[in-house]
Amino acid sequence: MAKKTIIPTKTPMSEQPPAERIKNYDEVPYGYTPEQAIAEAKRCLQCKRPFCIEGCPVEIDVPGFLQLIAEGEFQGAINLIRETNALPAVTGRVCPQEEQCEAVCALCKRFESVAIGRLERFVADWEAAQGPLPVPELPPPTGKKVAVVGSGPAGITVAADLARMGHSVTVFEALHEPGGVLVYGIPEFRLPKAIVRRDIDYVCRMGVELVTDFVVGNTATLDELLEDFDAIFLGTGAGLPWFLNVPGENLNGVYSANEYLTRVNLMKAYLFPEYDTPIALGRRVATIGGGNVAMDSARTALRLGAEESLIVYRRSREEMPGRDEEIHHAEEEGIQFHLLTSPVAFHGDGKGQVKEIECLKNELGEPDASGRRRPVPVPDSNFRIPADIVIVAIGQSPNPLIPKTTSDLQTGRRGTVVVDEDTMKTSKRSVFAGGDVATGGATVILAMGQGRIAAKAIDEYLRTGEW
Ligand SMILES: Cc1cc2nc3c(=O)[nH]c(=O)nc-3n(C[C@H](O)[C@H](O)[C@H](O)COP(=O)(O)OP(=O)(O)OC[C@H]3O[C@@H](n4cnc5c(N)ncnc54)[C@H](O)[C@@H]3O)c2cc1C
Repeated sequence: MAKKTIIPTKTPMSEQPPAERIKNYDEVPYGYTPEQAIAEAKRCLQCKRPFCIEGCPVEIDVPGFLQLIAEGEFQGAINLIRETNALPAVTGRVCPQEEQCEAVCALCKRFESVAIGRLERFVADWEAAQGPLPVPELPPPTGKKVAVVGSGPAGITVAADLARMGHSVTVFEALHEPGGVLVYGIPEFRLPKAIVRRDIDYVCRMGVELVTDFVVGNTATLDELLEDFDAIFLGTGAGLPWFLNVPGENLNGVYSANEYLTRVNLMKAYLFPEYDTPIALGRRVATIGGGNVAMDSARTALRLGAEESLIVYRRSREEMPGRDEEIHHAEEEGIQFHLLTSPVAFHGDGKGQVKEIECLKNELGEPDASGRRRPVPVPDSNFRIPADIVIVAIGQSPNPLIPKTTSDLQTGRRGTVVVDEDTMKTSKRSVFAGGDVATGGATVILAMGQGRIAAKAIDEYLRTGEW
């Protein structure tokens, strides 16, 4: 058999040039053409033991769908992905593939991995262009009712899986729009909202009822919902932002990334005054943090018209938790990186508005529990960075509202709901939980993976009644 010639690098994906894209909110990459997708899929070695499947938290049959793309069988490819992933157009765009499926691709030993994420995105977009997705045939109703609290990736995955099993599902969402972080956090230029709406619409067409503006713990408690429903899944995410707790953090112009991004993305502040959400426009905007949330905030500030947008991060570039692509895009767009730098105070202009961030320089010490080298402050290295808007993007925890208003719901570190990871059962009978509310801020695909485990366990509980 002729030896396969391997193209060493990924097929490039064209994207908006940086100078142009910082003036609009349109998506940055354009996606592959069918020809590019077929060429890229042909780079797959079709390994006998495909580590890429193990590298995926929802175990997509990666070699299977790549083979189908290589043969031009796009419908078959997307059908295969959908067997385990309800949101392929989303995960194709936002998953940290470089740490998961692509990190263990056999090609990586000598070359660049197959561009699995780009190919997943390609077939999902191809499918969307064919018209609305046909709803699968559903089994007869089981008569069991499940409430899903929260409509982020965890909640939507559970709702879709349970609907497919014939259960009646109602999703309760606190905000006026469903989608969780996918709509209120991740900006349009990275994840167009029409994609999220399309996937949620599909789940609703499977018979899932969606109730928005319903804050569980406030509009009704979890215990009250349990009077009407046979089981509950909590997928309420981690929407409570952390702060640095340093002097001056309550000055005007200091935002949490959560508020900043929600104003812009969900409340459409970038279309002010057409939408009546104000947002302070800074000339020099500093974002504290090194994850995806920080990159999204800094890049959003540029698009809102900031002349300079800075990232202030306490470790080095190597330890940054953001996706490679987001950090790379931020660098291309001219975001300035102040690395090995920790804020210790915010200083105002005497009228209550933030003016400067006082920082310390750091060195890298021994690795901490996260495995990344720890930032160690250099004594007396204080210096100041001027900024008229500061965005704090250093992490988030679950909101305590539901645990506070529910009997017997055990919480753990940083307010996460304690679950049995094999079943996602909580300490409270009939209540399951998964996604960021159980893990703390993590990733879309992990939230979906836990949603899948929970749906299976809920189904078993509904059928057997065994807790
Ligand atoms: C700005 C930003 C960028 C990110 N970028 C990436 C990325 O590139 N890749 C990636 O994999 N991950 C990324 N993440 C993380 C990822 O989005 C989350 O891990 C994921 O959304 C968690 O899903 P979830 O369903 O658990 O929660 P969420 O998406 O947070 O959804 C929870 C939902 O529950 C609702 N809710 C909360 N409390 C209640 C209540 N009491 N009653 C009713 N509803 C309630 C919320 O309004 C929300 O809609 C990012 C996160 C942020 C904030």
